[in-house]
Amino acid sequence: MQDKLTLMIPGPTPVPETVLQALGRHPIGHRSAEFQKIVKRTTEQLQWLHQTSNDVLVITGSGTAAMEAGIINVLSKGDKVLCGDNGKFGERWVKVAKAYGLEVQVIKAEWGQPLDPEAFRAALEADTAKEIRAVIVTHSETSTGVINDLQTIASYGQAHGTALTIADCVTSLGATDVPMDRWGVDVIGSGSQKGYMMPPGLAFVAMSEKAWEASKRSDLPKFYLDLSKYRKSAADNSNPFTPGINLYFALEAALDMMQKEGLEAIFARHARHRAAAQAGMEAMGLPLYAAKGHGSPAITAVAPEGIDAEALRKKVKERFDILLAGGQDHLKGKVFRIGHLGFVCDRDVLTAVAAIEATLQELGLGKGTTGAGVAAAAAALAP
Ligand SMILES: *Cc1c(COP(=O)(O)O)cnc(C)c1O
Repeated sequence: MQDKLTLMIPGPTPVPETVLQALGRHPIGHRSAEFQKIVKRTTEQLQWLHQTSNDVLVITGSGTAAMEAGIINVLSKGDKVLCGDNGKFGERWVKVAKAYGLEVQVIKAEWGQPLDPEAFRAALEADTAKEIRAVIVTHSETSTGVINDLQTIASYGQAHGTALTIADCVTSLGATDVPMDRWGVDVIGSGSQKGYMMPPGLAFVAMSEKAWEASKRSDLPKFYLDLSKYRKSAADNSNPFTPGINLYFALEAALDMMQKEGLEAIFARHARHRAAAQAGMEAMGLPLYAAKGHGSPAITAVAPEGIDAEALRKKVKERFDILLAGGQDHLKGKVFRIGHLGFVCDRDVLTAVAAIEATLQELGLGKGTTGAGVAAAAAALAP
């Protein structure tokens, strides 16, 4: 049915009507006092979201631009970095680091398993010459639905002294607690189409003082992503290039909504939706892909044994206009993923579980008692 599509993928995520309407305004000049006011206000709101007094800079681009900017502004050619890799996004940051000539030591975990913070500790402690310049970690690994222990890993970076912690918080920010200053995370990258309840197009980079200090010696090539330009402009409530002006209107509206709801309530909502999605799937006899206790609050990956995950996902879309995400790379056909990030309410999660359950039944693949999935999800959602 036209206009009935519900996105249950980990980006782009659903956008509230208020935010869509903010986008529809006529653009204004990006050097006007009116726009400066929006930059000032949204910068304060972004600091609130990151729980930081650091700079949070806005780039027109996707989340990858934020992470690339974070990496290339604080490091130099040949620098040694530790890079966590337990999924598609961890893999991507290894590729970016290598593309810029960094010396990468990869700390791996099996897909579906969390990174072992102790592996980071051991590598950092062994580095008595203090050659490791950064630890690059994906907080919520979207490809596998696993949340990594960023807090502990960042604490080891702090203890090391020289190493900065550069975190991909694209699907953790706005879903779970990421207190940048308290945890001592130096660089945080995120993107608008995830927890921000916005369309794609804006990327955000938060930078600690330690990160700015390191940026002074950084010699990697950069122009559009040179964050010192953004910092200079931000001091004047401005942007070095023409920003996504309408996306800024949307950003202000979305962050207004988030501030009204409050961080604690937002985190509780995501935790509740994770619990409901997990309970619903398990009650239907569909195994979760992420190791127990390490599921991301933004996304639940499901590995339905003996069922073509891609066929199931397509059928749910056809029958119910709910778009689930598929598995990536070797997980294609083996895994489907339920996004419950951003503008998602209890009704959405309950409906998604019901749609999956109804589809299994229609395909003659239902395993347990009919309705067990919905009942379990409803119980997990009950106040
Ligand atoms: C979506 C996502 C990104 C950014 O991807 P873009 O397509 O560049 O916005 C980065 N990391 C994770 C974990 C993501 O989920």
